[in-house]
Amino acid sequence: MLGKLARELRILGFDTEYLAYDKLTNKTPFGALKIAQNENRILLTRNKKLKNSPQVFFIESEIVQEQVIQVLTHFKLHKDIKLGSRCLICNSLLNPIPKETVKGRVPYYIYKTQNEFVFCARCQKIYWAGSHYLDMQNRLKKYCLPK
Ligand SMILES: [Zn+2]
Repeated sequence: MLGKLARELRILGFDTEYLAYDKLTNKTPFGALKIAQNENRILLTRNKKLKNSPQVFFIESEIVQEQVIQVLTHFKLHKDIKLGSRCLICNSLLNPIPKETVKGRVPYYIYKTQNEFVFCARCQKIYWAGSHYLDMQNRLKKYCLPK
């Protein structure tokens, strides 16, 4: 339900787990709540049944940009943004790797035009400051965030 918000929060560098509903072993919203409590996380949800539970933050809007603003504002996270510091697939922190080590592992055009690369040790995925990153920088301006 909030997959886009989860992705956006990861792009911003926040530790964000996302549970697809069909991956929940206990297929009730309360299954997700239990996981959040066990991992000491705040559960972001649009499920009204959970609205008044502890450790739950209710997302008001259906529009992802408004959702991000609500989360950043409520938890006062603006100063903690670390754009592009997390893997979008698995949520791990990324580490810089030298350009020469990515030769042949990224498209040739990317290798020629980019100088900085980061790496997810868990998924073996290489990231660079590509279009997602630039999109996000533009979106940050729309969130009216201090630089
Ligand atoms: Zn990863």
